[in-house]
Amino acid sequence: MEKNNAYQNAIEQLEKVAKIIKLKESTVARLSKHDRVLEVNIPVVMDDGTTKVFTGYRAQHCNARGPYKGGLRYAPQVDLNEVKALSVWMTWKCAVTGIPYGGAKGGITVDPTKLSIGEIERLSRGYIRAVADLIGPDIDVPAPDMNTNSQIMAWMIDEYSKIKGSWQPATITAKPIELGGSQGRTEATGLGGVFILNELSKLQGLSPKDTEIAVQGFGNVGSHFARLAYEKGFKIVAISDINGGIYDRKGIDVNKLIKHIYEDKKIITEFAKEKEVDNKSLLELPVSVLVPAAIENVITKDNADSINAKYIIEMANGPVTPEADYILADKGILSVPDVLANSGGVTVSYFEWVQNRQGYYWSKEEVEKQLQGLMVKAFNEAHQSTKSLGTDMRMGTYALSVKKVADALELRGI
Ligand code: GLU
Repeated sequence: MEKNNAYQNAIEQLEKVAKIIKLKESTVARLSKHDRVLEVNIPVVMDDGTTKVFTGYRAQHCNARGPYKGGLRYAPQVDLNEVKALSVWMTWKCAVTGIPYGGAKGGITVDPTKLSIGEIERLSRGYIRAVADLIGPDIDVPAPDMNTNSQIMAWMIDEYSKIKGSWQPATITAKPIELGGSQGRTEATGLGGVFILNELSKLQGLSPKDTEIAVQGFGNVGSHFARLAYEKGFKIVAISDINGGIYDRKGIDVNKLIKHIYEDKKIITEFAKEKEVDNKSLLELPVSVLVPAAIENVITKDNADSINAKYIIEMANGPVTPEADYILADKGILSVPDVLANSGGVTVSYFEWVQNRQGYYWSKEEVEKQLQGLMVKAFNEAHQSTKSLGTDMRMGTYALSVKKVADALELRGI
């Protein structure tokens, strides 16, 4: 997979939609830049007594519609370019379901599999000390992303609350339930994607049991998406993760695979040795729905022509490059863009923030009902906009969300 030029892609997408909705040049210029980007260097005492310095980032793109919001990822490829792109996408994503936030993203350049639990905790607390002045419930609200989880959010909210001298749950979302996390947040991104899958199926007349789905990525997003789709009767035929993948046209028992990987700690290919498929070939399988749920830039101009799926649901952020968008559209492949398909996570983060501020907690049923309402509405609005503009679904969705941000900027006075 090529090293990403994700930020350039994000700007290209903005310029493309700007032409469609006739955005003012000054607004495009404003939205092409970030309000603020921060690089921090975090010294961590390692278990062997040596000190290592890690580099982290926080990019705050635009807060015209409310406080900045977005996850933190821990991965070796994290750099300023990547977090800048991801924060732009967060701005559009929050506008898609209409939650009152702007876009941000952060991360640390680190391979967390090489760190002990204690080292990860010290690194996470160090990151919060470094960015504490720039976050807060009305300023910027971090959450997890790739390779970060509710335990890391727990250390972070503890560190932040200690700095402030009082309990501050609304500053970080996707916390453990015991610390003010919301019911349903862990699986929210996957569940939101399944609501989109349902709407797409209704629109295209797909019957779940005959709808073959390939999922690339089996982390928090991909595994919950695959499990919830499987439980709704969809046929998951291929799944991959960093260690490889499997393809079985008879269908994969996703619950068994989750147990195999997460409880038995075995690698995916051992689940069905004779059915191995690599990550690249998985993307090209002749399935009905392809679900990239791992990283950005996996469908590019080099492989877009080999995609054989009829539909794509982008559960990763930025999996399809702008050049690939043109090729997929020419092939008649309908791709539901990331800012819509994976917006369930940040939407339930919003519910968590609301609950923290009210000190009143919702049931899981309530969370799921509210999420479904917002996702279904956003899908249908995006579909209508796509039809009336005669464009692809990314541009149809962007037309609505970028306009919401531009209108907010305009009203406030740029
Ligand atoms: N990291 C997730 C995303 O890319 C969730 C962000 C959040 O909950 O703030 O949408």
